[in-house]
Amino acid sequence: MLDQAQRILKDVFGYDAFRGNQAAIIERVARGGDALVLMPTGGGKSLCYQVPALLRDGLAVVVSPLIALMEDQVATLDELGVPAVALNSMLEADAQRDIAERIRRNEIKLLYLAPERLVQPRMLAFLQRLNIALFAIDEAHCVSQWGHDFRPEYLQLGQLAELFPEVPRIALTATADKRTREEIVRRLHLQDAERFLSSFDRPNIFYRILPKDQPRKQLMGFLAERRGDAGIVYCLSRKKVEEVAEFLSAQGFPALPYHAGLPNELRAYHQKRFLNEEGLIMVATIAFGMGIDKPNVRFVAHLDLPKSLEAYYQETGRAGRDGLPADAWMAYGLQDVVFLKQMLANSEGDEQHKRVELHKLDAMLALCEETRCRRQALLAYFDEVLAEPCGHCDNCVDGVQTWDATEPARQALSAIYRSGQRYGVGHLVDILLGKDNEKIRSFGHQQLSVFGVGKTLSEGEWRTLFRQLVARGLADVDLEGYGGLRLSESCRPLLRGEVRLELRREPAASKAPRSGASPASSLVRQEERETWEALRSLRRKLAEEHGVPPYVIFPDATLLEMLRSGPRTLADMAGVSGVGARKLERYGQAFLDVLQGGAKVERSAGDLRHELISLARSGMTPTQIARQLDCTEKNVYAMLAEAISAQQLSLEQALDLPEALLEEIQAAFLDGEGELPGVAEVAPLFTGRVPDAVLYCVRAALQAEFEL
Ligand code: ADP
Ligand code: ZN
Repeated sequence: MLDQAQRILKDVFGYDAFRGNQAAIIERVARGGDALVLMPTGGGKSLCYQVPALLRDGLAVVVSPLIALMEDQVATLDELGVPAVALNSMLEADAQRDIAERIRRNEIKLLYLAPERLVQPRMLAFLQRLNIALFAIDEAHCVSQWGHDFRPEYLQLGQLAELFPEVPRIALTATADKRTREEIVRRLHLQDAERFLSSFDRPNIFYRILPKDQPRKQLMGFLAERRGDAGIVYCLSRKKVEEVAEFLSAQGFPALPYHAGLPNELRAYHQKRFLNEEGLIMVATIAFGMGIDKPNVRFVAHLDLPKSLEAYYQETGRAGRDGLPADAWMAYGLQDVVFLKQMLANSEGDEQHKRVELHKLDAMLALCEETRCRRQALLAYFDEVLAEPCGHCDNCVDGVQTWDATEPARQALSAIYRSGQRYGVGHLVDILLGKDNEKIRSFGHQQLSVFGVGKTLSEGEWRTLFRQLVARGLADVDLEGYGGLRLSESCRPLLRGEVRLELRREPAASKAPRSGASPASSLVRQEERETWEALRSLRRKLAEEHGVPPYVIFPDATLLEMLRSGPRTLADMAGVSGVGARKLERYGQAFLDVLQGGAKVERSAGDLRHELISLARSGMTPTQIARQLDCTEKNVYAMLAEAISAQQLSLEQALDLPEALLEEIQAAFLDGEGELPGVAEVAPLFTGRVPDAVLYCVRAALQAEFEL
């Protein structure tokens, strides 16, 4: 059995070896047993049912909660030459009948379905007349009422056990916690399932958490070394999402906003672009989450603090599904804590629930102020022991210095106490530093015994200290919404001098981005960049031809291996991980050609235009685009006009003209009868006001409109 599985792995998927528990899981299911699979994101869950589906007779039925996920999987299988289909409500009746017919003729190996579809009586009756190889229930945690992804339809999947007693069932999830696990077993009637638990470590992710100082500048420093990489930037509020997306675009990082306040179509459109294009940054609230199966998300950056470690783990986990190096980066500050605590205080729900949430937030804060290995701390929270420090997080790499903060902490706490437990950090710091200002005087705070006792620390150091006191639970923020600090019970021993306090020393301001390094992705070295881009652009071209996302053609890992191992023949190519028989036949030669052309491959006109369109859509101005693409503005305008004519861009996306001016230009073109006048005829009206290049674009838009 395993021999056969191994052969399928190589021939169909192009991989050499199973990872982790894959082999054992596949054997269990292929032999007809049930399985519960807990594996982190990127662990390779899909193969756990896809390989058994190919080993067993009959149709494998896969339950998946989201259309986007299904489509991605079907496209991937299709590229591998495995007959798979997804039935969803978007399909026309004809198409559905056609699929049913192909299933009856045994032409399909895998059928993807939404749960509500599967449990329709007609569907169940249809399936009962067929030979079913297995049921796979993906994202099985959706059955849990406690989880954040609860789907009531999942509750009905329990009946599969009784309706199809002979058919093996495999439930899969990346959610670690025990309660959810037991709920899955109970609700899906998986009592006899063998459990396969993997480590939840994501070794390829580098964790870094830094104190928020100038967040945008800090983010730019982080992104500077990751140009051309796709990533997600999480923010708490919709407003901030929009602002940050705009800011990044203006800085030359193509970015799109995503939050629940955007119209559905726009959200879907942005998501689709994020999947299909390379190097886009999605700036999002947590509404952007499940269903993001894009394997080459290179980083997840948090500009605001997640509300729990569960959320942090899940959100950062969207980086690096493909196993290649990826980054989880976060900047956090006291303001985040204040905000989250206020949100919690104002939320509905009983006190018990709020207490639980508060504990979760505390655990998140503890990770931020952690002085040991971040990964050890993160995994420990999920009851997993990592014996050694990981060597792959900021604390391990940079080292953490601590200092004895006992005395200053007591001064800070007494400043809170003596001023009446109602002022925010700014004012408290002023008291400690002995600032002579109006607010101090109006409250008579220059009379306090703590006034001016803290001159040995800088303002920044005091702010850090207050943040750390809150993070450690020694001080608390008022929940009335003004960000005032008060003492908490647990600060007493410190105030009484019974304990000492060691705190994390703030790292020196993060180093400036490597100077001189030109924009490069985090994956490839400078000297590899040209070939890498050539491989990527071939992949993009093929992806466009096939109407699939680029990673469906080949994942980055495969492209990277091609780049590094430099196959010269089709036989060499067959040895590259991720190149199965079907893809070798379809694409092998084309990629060999690129590799042999080596660095000589030029950026084609098509690529340039593709990039230009992405940049323009992301809101960049022509000047910014010219800088980004390293070409003249004139060229940019010419390409914009072309893209507008081809209706790939709207005028609004291409240019940012004042409305009145735009109307004036349009009126000038539309003045006469018949044909649109040429630019030369209209130009004199706008001499010195509007460059000809802009007129070309407006004309192109009018023309495109008339051809509709
Ligand atoms: P999950 O669903 O657990 O997040 P996927 O099934 O999407 O993970 O797999 C993640 C990536 O790892 C995919 O690109 C997949 O092709 C790849 N992969 C899975 N198993 C193997 C393997 N045994 N060898 C090499 N690559 C693998
Ligand atoms: Zn570490």
